[in-house]
Amino acid sequence: MAPPFKDKVAIVTGAASGIGRAAALRLAAGGASIVVVDRDADGARNVVAELEHFAVRAVAEVCDVRDPDAAERIIAAQAIAFGGIDILVNNAGVVVQSKLLETGLDLWHDMIAVNLTSCFAWSKAAAPRMRTRGGGRIVNVASHAGVLGSTGRGAYSATKGGMLALTRVMAVEWAEFAITVNAVAPGAIVTPMTAASHKAERTAAWMSRLPLQRYGGPDEVAGAIAYLCSVDGAYITGQTLCVDGGFSVAGILMRDEWRPGTEE
Ligand code: NAD
Repeated sequence: MAPPFKDKVAIVTGAASGIGRAAALRLAAGGASIVVVDRDADGARNVVAELEHFAVRAVAEVCDVRDPDAAERIIAAQAIAFGGIDILVNNAGVVVQSKLLETGLDLWHDMIAVNLTSCFAWSKAAAPRMRTRGGGRIVNVASHAGVLGSTGRGAYSATKGGMLALTRVMAVEWAEFAITVNAVAPGAIVTPMTAASHKAERTAAWMSRLPLQRYGGPDEVAGAIAYLCSVDGAYITGQTLCVDGGFSVAGILMRDEWRPGTEE
């Protein structure tokens, strides 16, 4: 059987680390050429070196996704260099813990710029190139925080919820170009981001609401992204796939056996 992404060209933002890196490796393992986009120059080049293992073409594009010109400039150049663009994974993102009453407008605008405006700008630049290829796939890496209320994540949640709304509109508007647009909403995933932001109290809070009773791995999110980019995902568009160990569907969690008459 041919590799699922043979002759496909994928752009992954925030691919120097965590989920983005795992997505780049997974798509490359399936035969895709990869454009690794990140502001971390060393990290991006390291991932390109890792991708050599799969004998695919890979390049690093070092930029800040907040740069309003970066998306069009890089996608135009790489579409020429690679012959087209088939897949875009909007993954670059940052999280800042800040309760709403302590959140200033600077932080608010910055979160919107990194997490949400970049999704709009990179998708808008990619869609016309996908259209000329006869179709394409866009996967937006959102968050459980875009689906549920999450303490101290007002600005972050707004960006991720906005991403889910944008996913639906892009899916509907670009269906005529045979472009599917979906989102994944990861729960707690072991990456440098959670290493920095999940202290003991937060981890305990997660475990009290997590049916699968463990954090996920970046590769488990990458698997969902690859599925949405594969032939098997061709009829799925506008959807949000929660990759969260059951977090988003959990009510109270009872690990002990429930006995009638003893609990309500
Ligand atoms: P990470 O910090 O390991 O990786 C994020 C990457 O994005 C880094 O390489 C970073 O350099 C890059 N990046 C950040 N801001 C950038 C900018 N302005 N320009 C260019 N590159 C930039 O984080 P991760 O955990 O892999 O997160 C990836 C995505 O998944 C994020 O959008 C995050 O919100 C989302 N997410 C993560 C989790 C989790 O538990 N790790 C949960 C839900 C959602």
